[in-house]
Amino acid sequence: MNEYIESLKSQEKLKISIDKSINFSWEHFKIAGPCSVEGPSIIDIANEIKKCGATALRAGAYKPCTFPILKSKSGGWKEGLKKEGLDLLKEAKKSSGLPIVTEVMDVRMIEEIAEVADIFQVGTRNFQNYSLLDELGKQNKPILLKRGTWATLDEILGASERILVGGNKNLAICLRGVVGMPSYRHIFPSIRWAPDLMMIPALKEFTNIPIIYDPSHSTGYRNFVPAVCKASLAIGADGLIIEAHPDPDNSISDPDQAVSFETLKKIFND
Ligand code: PEP
Ligand code: MN
Repeated sequence: MNEYIESLKSQEKLKISIDKSINFSWEHFKIAGPCSVEGPSIIDIANEIKKCGATALRAGAYKPCTFPILKSKSGGWKEGLKKEGLDLLKEAKKSSGLPIVTEVMDVRMIEEIAEVADIFQVGTRNFQNYSLLDELGKQNKPILLKRGTWATLDEILGASERILVGGNKNLAICLRGVVGMPSYRHIFPSIRWAPDLMMIPALKEFTNIPIIYDPSHSTGYRNFVPAVCKASLAIGADGLIIEAHPDPDNSISDPDQAVSFETLKKIFND
């Protein structure tokens, strides 16, 4: 093994200390919910996903969309409901008691998101937003760091280190699929990424940071989600983050990958 790999391996395997006031563990963490907060329906959704076995609610109030204007939806929905979405997440948390996982896209948003989020989600697009990671390293809430679709193993360790050295040890890495050229994309057009399952044992050679797998973005197609959930847990994932919706086909964002509550329940109880 070369010197560079040795130096990565010899870094102290950082123990993750969970903030006791939040009352959860990353182990077998079951996060679910719609891609976006779509309206007051998020309150019922929170209660439903809890019944399915979820231990945290995910939903974006701020959504970084590939096309910010051209493909914005009708009814005022443009890259998320923003402040209104955060207020609805607060209601959903009050009603269900579930901790909230929601995306922070920028340093300037940290304070606002912190009022609602129990876990800051860093999206793929911000995986190497160093000023954001440095700031999140000073926060006292857990971070779910989603892998950049391009990121190598050492870049994942490096981005994690940025948060950890700031003092925030409540970190989980989320693997969510990577750039690839799936030969089946002409048959399943919603598939954009290739599942990155082997990165789970690869990372575990270097770190004990918990790994949460995202079978939704990594497959892009709901029929593949249950199998990839099983596969990711079998290969060592510590938890899952799954997009689920009461009417999956009519999800405002990412409709093809959202699973029904019935499927979600099966996944969590299998
Ligand atoms: C999401 O979780 O809804 C999301 C936008 O994911 P990613 O940042 O992995 O694309
Ligand atoms: Mn999504």
